[in-house]
Amino acid sequence: MGVSNIDERNWPKSHPWGPRELELLEEALGGNDWSHTSMCREFEAKFARFVGTAYALMVPSGTSAIYLSLLAGGIKPGQEVIIPGITWPSVVYAILKSGGVPRTVDIDPDSFCMSAKTIKRSLNEKTFAILATHLFGSQCEMNDICNLASKNGILVIEDAAQSIGSIQDSRHCGTWGSFGSFSWNDKKVLACGEGGVIVTNDGAAYEELLRLQLILPERDRIPRHVPGTYKVSEFQGAVAIAQLERLERRLAKMAKGAKLLEKIILDQGSQKIAIQKKPDKSDLQSYYNFCLKIDGVEDSSRIIKELSARLGCRVTKPYKPISKISDFKPTREYYDKRIWRNLNETHEICDLAYRSLCLRLPFFVLEAEDTLLVEAARIIVELVEEHTG
Ligand SMILES: *Cc1c(COP(=O)(O)O)cnc(C)c1O
Repeated sequence: MGVSNIDERNWPKSHPWGPRELELLEEALGGNDWSHTSMCREFEAKFARFVGTAYALMVPSGTSAIYLSLLAGGIKPGQEVIIPGITWPSVVYAILKSGGVPRTVDIDPDSFCMSAKTIKRSLNEKTFAILATHLFGSQCEMNDICNLASKNGILVIEDAAQSIGSIQDSRHCGTWGSFGSFSWNDKKVLACGEGGVIVTNDGAAYEELLRLQLILPERDRIPRHVPGTYKVSEFQGAVAIAQLERLERRLAKMAKGAKLLEKIILDQGSQKIAIQKKPDKSDLQSYYNFCLKIDGVEDSSRIIKELSARLGCRVTKPYKPISKISDFKPTREYYDKRIWRNLNETHEICDLAYRSLCLRLPFFVLEAEDTLLVEAARIIVELVEEHTG
């Protein structure tokens, strides 16, 4: 007799909110300026304090955070930026827009993140930066990546869109490199509708970011790159402040939920399932997704469809490898040969992850009651056994 299905209404909301959000939104509405002023500045100060950097700047998205970091970091046309072969594809556009050339590298088969080992062989005289990207429920090993970068005189920018609150070797993810970018898009653990933030400890870079963020007629110093309008509204700032106040509690709940899910899955003795591996020095993991690796499944599409139906929440595959994204194909004439070649480079583990061996549960699942998590774990094991048996 199998475990019964879970009704989607049983899961927690992805973004809890209450009187505090309303109070701050009302305050923002009553302010004299609805654009990037006191609320956003307050969030920036609080966020910088939270992660432990000197500066933070709110921007409209995680994608623009990466774009502006590349500009402030001084990228020159044609220089390469290293990204994992599976990632959110908007980062490709952020790099292209900055004049850079994206170059993909493989991921580690157990952590599903890029590593110094997978990055090393792609370094060349054109490499400008490594976009160290923490994916799903794990982190890149940052000591190794920072050592490799400093030995080769290249910049580290961290794409921490999926790892708000993760801590490694006593430092927040996003604060290891010259710049760290976060996203407050609706799908992220901390959200304010849309938005993002750049953190840095470099005062001169922060000044450059301020110049890039806003065009002012009286400006006496022109930025090195063409500035734009990268401000956000006070309403985003207001919601972000209130959501940040909830964050530590949510992180603790997620960590507890992940531990329980992991324990129940492993206790059932399934030899087919492994949990996405975290670095040894990971002190705290924030979960954009709880990610599982499955052995012996040729194509995970069916299992994912059935699991979504039975769990009552959307289970997904890891990202499609960049080399397989057909969106890039109609515009191939637009790219020069090197960009096209780089985007088409295939990577064994990225391809394997997409074809078969991984599924992702959304973060809010981890905040559910223990009994629900136990049921979910049983359903997962039952289905995996059915499909691999
Ligand atoms: C969400 C995300 C981004 C982009 O953030 P937006 O705010 O949607 O622009 C970049 N990188 C990763 C890894 C992401 O998950």
